[in-house]
Amino acid sequence: MAMKEFKAESKRLLEMMINSIYTQREIFLRELISNASDAIDKIYYKALTDDQLVFNKDDYYIRITPDKEARTLTISDTGIGMTQEELENNLGVIAKSGSLAFKNENEAKDGHNIIGQFGVGFYSAFMVADRVTVITKALGSDTAYKWESAGADGYTIEPAAKDTVGTEIVLKIKDNTEEDNYDEFLEDYRLRTIIKKYSDFIRYPIKMDVTGH
Ligand code: ADP
Ligand code: MG
Repeated sequence: MAMKEFKAESKRLLEMMINSIYTQREIFLRELISNASDAIDKIYYKALTDDQLVFNKDDYYIRITPDKEARTLTISDTGIGMTQEELENNLGVIAKSGSLAFKNENEAKDGHNIIGQFGVGFYSAFMVADRVTVITKALGSDTAYKWESAGADGYTIEPAAKDTVGTEIVLKIKDNTEEDNYDEFLEDYRLRTIIKKYSDFIRYPIKMDVTGH
């Protein structure tokens, strides 16, 4: 399976995230939850005009699952999912990002301010993860796909197994270094605090599993 390269602009943003010394790394969770919520919104609005589609409130939620042993944090949603083409277009090219446009226009050199003031989106996952895996199945599609990237080198896309419509994002949380400790992003209590701080306005339930004590 061939490794694909990120578009130049995406690569720049990605490198900024990977090397981020930004203290509020926790905002990655805000970004991923807001994407999950957007994906559920898309089904909700589709259901308003599509008689074939019934929006049963209980079926739509976001789930956060930390696993200390595997050192992974999984954010899954029952939203609209992505087709192979959408995976390619949405996660391979982050040119529409507001923060990047701002950076280009203003020639700002200080990544800290940019991250703080604007949503940086999906790539912010790379502030805390050294590998990101996205398994997704689009509404109306028979095939699920897996997108995976371990950073600026590129990403792969391949068919995957997933029964239900929606998206699952698995973050392989970075190993601790002398300067940086990432364990907090696997701690149940800490995660709840972050979710409360940033995601109070999300109108779908955010469920949390605890595994791998
Ligand atoms: P933005 O949310 O500002 O569009 P992001 O970088 O956060 O930018 O996300 C890029 C795109 O990837 C989204 O617009 C969406 O199309 C797609 N995407 C990201 N996460 C999900 C998800 N959980 N479900 C479906 N699509 C998603
Ligand atoms: Mg977003």
